[in-house]
Amino acid sequence: MRQLIGGEWIDSRNGRVFDSVSPWSGEVVATVAAGDQDDTRAAIEAAQQAFGPWSESLPHERQGIFLRAADELERRGDEVIALLAHETGCTRHFADIQLEFALSLLRQSAALPYASQGQLLPSDLPGTRAMAVRRPVGVVGAIAPWNAALTLSSRAVAGPIALGNTVVLKPSEHAPACGALLAEVFVAAGLPPGVLNLVTHGPGEAAFVGEELIANPLVRRINFTGSTTTGRRLAEAAGRHLKRMLLQLGGHNPLIVLDGVDLDYAVDAAVFGSFVHQGQVCMCARRIYVERPIAEEFSERFAARAASLPVGDPADPETVIGPVISRWALSTIARRVEEAVAHGARVLAGGEARPPCYPATVLVDVPPDVELAFDETFGPVVVIDAVEDRDEAVRRANASAFGMNAAVLAADAAQGMEVARRLDAGIVHVNDQTVNDEPQMPFGGTKDSGWGSFGVGFAVDEFTELQWVTTRDA
Ligand code: ADP
Repeated sequence: MRQLIGGEWIDSRNGRVFDSVSPWSGEVVATVAAGDQDDTRAAIEAAQQAFGPWSESLPHERQGIFLRAADELERRGDEVIALLAHETGCTRHFADIQLEFALSLLRQSAALPYASQGQLLPSDLPGTRAMAVRRPVGVVGAIAPWNAALTLSSRAVAGPIALGNTVVLKPSEHAPACGALLAEVFVAAGLPPGVLNLVTHGPGEAAFVGEELIANPLVRRINFTGSTTTGRRLAEAAGRHLKRMLLQLGGHNPLIVLDGVDLDYAVDAAVFGSFVHQGQVCMCARRIYVERPIAEEFSERFAARAASLPVGDPADPETVIGPVISRWALSTIARRVEEAVAHGARVLAGGEARPPCYPATVLVDVPPDVELAFDETFGPVVVIDAVEDRDEAVRRANASAFGMNAAVLAADAAQGMEVARRLDAGIVHVNDQTVNDEPQMPFGGTKDSGWGSFGVGFAVDEFTELQWVTTRDA
């Protein structure tokens, strides 16, 4: 599989390749160009060349391309779902969610070229007309993760391109073929050469691409979705280059369950929100706070459901828990669970790896100083704690370095809202679980979960800039 640079599918300049392998079977999904700094520089230059004409393209031309891209993606839907399973271990259910999101995103983004509007401003200088004109920023670097490879790569490129920017996309080394498929879809839709470029790289070599994207002065903005550790490192480098970033990072998301709630509903919602895609979604619930009167019954029913979730081949539509992305990820999850148990945690469900999977795992009595208790563990592991009242739930929910999202399940929606209002998170859901996304929403965290918002209309602020222009009567 090749890189897309300036409209041509090309090998890496250094001639190296690597294998993208299935996390379930270990089979080779694709042999991929192992790009490096030179390829990245070439892609940036191609994007810069394409920028002038693309930034002046007519809104309806861009709109047509996005609508055709959506149709093309839909036409290739079965292939996309199979690839997500094969390359990223994505279950059928989550692949359907990803496809639906991406189609909606592309179709909504088709309207974006018309949404980039400026303003006329009153001036106290006689005979002066003052304007705030919105302009695309130029070349945008887009760094995407593997976990929701389709939706998060689509989101990384759609807003910037629709608004007249050009893009260099760097997919994860765990999902290069998913990135290539997205690029093919845009090419088939008629996107001009150089508007979207794709650079792939081998395991452990992301920094060669990432550092060039950040340091190269032709790149004007970066959007990044991934871990807080990597995001922090990139933000430090971007600071040195005064480069603005949109950062979507990790979460350690609380789900609060209030007394009086319908327990069947609460258990269903919490199971989905904790374990969808094997817990490898930044929105997954990691901590569940339950009011004490219902804590025991909730925990028992939740754990029983968790234990019953089918584990196995992601291509089997019955599977709920597929493989985790890599052996390294599996060992991190196992180590953190073992550490919690060694410090007194009790396992209500799961708790032992079944390589390449980790079954849905529920823990109670987790002490506050083990990693599981305060850091994001990217797998199907959730901690339940009883709380005395709503104040304690809020206090504990907010006692986190992260602020991605939070959710409250309550019998009384007003009571749920009262709790939600006090939660320190970029996204809060009342009477829904934490994993919930639509392309038009202002998706973004606070604190260590990131800066800025993805969300179709919100992309205007992120990927255009204002120019103040005045004209004087002669
Ligand atoms: P995850 O745990 O989801 O894999 P990462 O933050 O490691 O999170 O990965 C998210 C994206 O960031 C991927 O595309 C990955 O290749 C990329 N990445 C990792 N390290 C760097 C780096 N030093 N520079 C640029 N990109 C990086």
